[in-house]
Amino acid sequence: MNFESLGLDPRILKALKEKGYTTPSPIQQQAIPVVLSGQDLMAAAQTGTGKTAGFTLPMLQNLLKGQGARNNSVRALVLTPTRELAQQVADNVALYSKHLPIKSTVVYGGVKINPQMQKLRGGADVLVATPGRLLDLYQQNALKLDRLEILVLDEADRMLDMGFIHDLKKIVALIPKQRQTLLFSATFSNPIKELAERFVHAPQEVSVSPANTKAPTISHTVFEVDKPNKTKLLIHLIKQEGWRQVLVFSKTKHGANRIAKMLSAKDISAAAIHGDKSQNARTKALADFKAGSVQVLVATDIAARGIDISQLPYVVNFDLPKVPEDYVHRIGRTGRAGETGHAVSFVTEEDISELFAIERVIGELIERQVEPAFPPEKRLPESKLDTRPIKPKKPKKPKKPKTEQTSKATQAPAKLVATEPRKTPRRRKPQGDNAKQAR
Ligand code: AMP
Repeated sequence: MNFESLGLDPRILKALKEKGYTTPSPIQQQAIPVVLSGQDLMAAAQTGTGKTAGFTLPMLQNLLKGQGARNNSVRALVLTPTRELAQQVADNVALYSKHLPIKSTVVYGGVKINPQMQKLRGGADVLVATPGRLLDLYQQNALKLDRLEILVLDEADRMLDMGFIHDLKKIVALIPKQRQTLLFSATFSNPIKELAERFVHAPQEVSVSPANTKAPTISHTVFEVDKPNKTKLLIHLIKQEGWRQVLVFSKTKHGANRIAKMLSAKDISAAAIHGDKSQNARTKALADFKAGSVQVLVATDIAARGIDISQLPYVVNFDLPKVPEDYVHRIGRTGRAGETGHAVSFVTEEDISELFAIERVIGELIERQVEPAFPPEKRLPESKLDTRPIKPKKPKKPKKPKTEQTSKATQAPAKLVATEPRKTPRRRKPQGDNAKQAR
């Protein structure tokens, strides 16, 4: 199959050819005809599958049919959970529409709102946005949504995890009922299905990879190591193996800073990217990393969401993810679109139950290694694959999102917004006498 046979406009085909794409990826093969037909779509596709082009190409083509955007009006809205992903998607939209009479722009929090208001004056055929900033702009009359034709929810699972459900409900109340809605999510968990009931109408469902599987092009290993030796092991691997372009995951923002600092001290250029960094610093670190002037990018889970660097060869889990499902998301940063990639996880005695949980989720044991220069004092207990079925997660109570701020007059001004999910103590189910009161 090729892109021509999908019936795409010659100007879109030209842009694809210039980009060097010849064959549509499986999600593109499935999603493009559905979107072109005008139907709603629910697509289970992880990042790295080519899902962005999967919705962007047919969306652009559908937009060619109507009239261009009026002043301040938006015709297609793509919502993403993170600023980095918004920028990434917007870059893709701009690339694929470069030969089309389509205006696109992007808005997200953490940067000045005025330039975004100005950009929106002439309207946008495609607007890529994070939910909080979109609502801010709407409240300030910078955009109109009453003529919206297409709504795309990208990485919907992540939007729910990050507590955007309230914002999403508000947004959907502002847009026409008669529209095309496309929902992309890594999985079709119950909360996603509930979201779909509210947002999507009689959708076609497509799915390209079962949940929690890693791409076959990614190899992965575990290094057993003692905690105090983790940084030394990282430096050793980067230097000995000559690794260039390494994405390192840290559990905490503080840890990310510390790792970047230690690497820099050993002449390995490194930058940290997390929610306490200003948006400008995050954008710069990512750009430097992409350009190759920064060799190692140390990130927390949320900040790394949306990082798409083609042919990123190495991902290191300096700390294992707290949520086992995030393992697949993390290592999905490498081996994208058919490229090969290698993921390495450092596992200490403390992390062994997290390793077991990951192996259970991915349904395979990960090969273990010991670096002779840094042998652990004690070998870790062997893994035994737990094959009991995993219960689907209960829908989470929505949290107040931290990525974006709504600019209500009462709100404290301009503190830069963290993007890490808040650690709110879990509310206990009310029991006995208190139950009535709590309800
Ligand atoms: P995505 O899942 O949308 O983040 O895309 C993952 C990567 O695959 C991006 O770097 C895209 O530029 C690339 N990509 C998307 N579609 C294709 C294609 N048909 N052929 C080759 N690469 C692609």
